Amino acid sequence: MNLSKFNRRFYSSGPTPIEKLDRLSSVLGGPDIYIKRDDLLGVAGGGNKIRKLEFLMADALKQGADTIITCGAPQSNHCRLTLAVSNKENMPCYLVLRGNYDKTAGGNNLLFNILGAEGIIHVSNDSDLNIEMEKLADDLRSKGRKPYVIPLGGTNEIGMLGYISCAREILQQTFEMSVEIEHMVCTSGSGGTHGGLLTGFKTANAEIPVTGISVYHKADPQTSAIHDHCQKAADFLGIHNEVAMDDIIVFDDYVGGGYAQVTKEMMEAVRLAAKTEAVILDPVYTGKTMAGLIDLVRKGYFNNTKSVLFLHTGGVPALYTYAKDFLND
Ligand SMILES: *Cc1c(COP(=O)(O)O)cnc(C)c1O
Repeated sequence: MNLSKFNRRFYSSGPTPIEKLDRLSSVLGGPDIYIKRDDLLGVAGGGNKIRKLEFLMADALKQGADTIITCGAPQSNHCRLTLAVSNKENMPCYLVLRGNYDKTAGGNNLLFNILGAEGIIHVSNDSDLNIEMEKLADDLRSKGRKPYVIPLGGTNEIGMLGYISCAREILQQTFEMSVEIEHMVCTSGSGGTHGGLLTGFKTANAEIPVTGISVYHKADPQTSAIHDHCQKAADFLGIHNEVAMDDIIVFDDYVGGGYAQVTKEMMEAVRLAAKTEAVILDPVYTGKTMAGLIDLVRKGYFNNTKSVLFLHTGGVPALYTYAKDFLND
């Protein structure tokens, strides 16, 4: 499989660091924990969506698009980063946001304002984001524009190329570091990161299990959705899909009350990563994922595992909208 045949824009220079978390590993007393710093991907606060957007924006340009449309939650990191790379490409960008929007919340909302979307459309909680984005696209087309619609979380067969290539980057990097990673842990949201890594390791014949910590969906539908994404990615790449349902490990025990809602374990995990390693996590994704990792270490899930790689997918701007939760804790 030759990923070079796909158009790509470059928004970040070189591989993101992999670091050993000595103090966290020793506090937890389990396997050696390493971190892949995709929070350092280089645009407007960083985060995993950059890798997907490198391929998605290249596709938009190839198709002659002149406007970008995407969607997400009111504090969406994906919307922030899509807006950011649209600015770099000199393309106006529309955001379709679902749910209660608090203009004064700060975090990513503030960055939407500063980065300057051409339009922000608010839709109610029960709206279908794909339908809402298509409505907007039709409207723009009728005005002679050529919109390009990026799905929720940038997860489709094109966006997934970002994490298929990241899996290869990890294999090359850990080879050069002489570190063997035996297991990987990442957030499972829209599933493109989780599914992309699985496809990337499988197609490189590297049997590294990837445990996904769900931040929204129940494990069963999340597993099926990821399997679907992997199938579509394989079809797009013209390869056999090697990712079986059994390869997709999802834990839904760390969601708490729901998406973006605070849990005690998340706050502990955010504090512990900061206290031991000065690594800042976010409350919605990486904080809950770290809470999952910590709990799984304590339960002995990694007992026969020497080394675990945690993927830091970014999201830190949203942390600043949770000041009250941490201050009143
Ligand atoms: C979007 C996002 C994720 C989840 O990635 P998916 O590919 O949607 O599963 C994880 N962490 C952060 C910070 C994100 O913004």
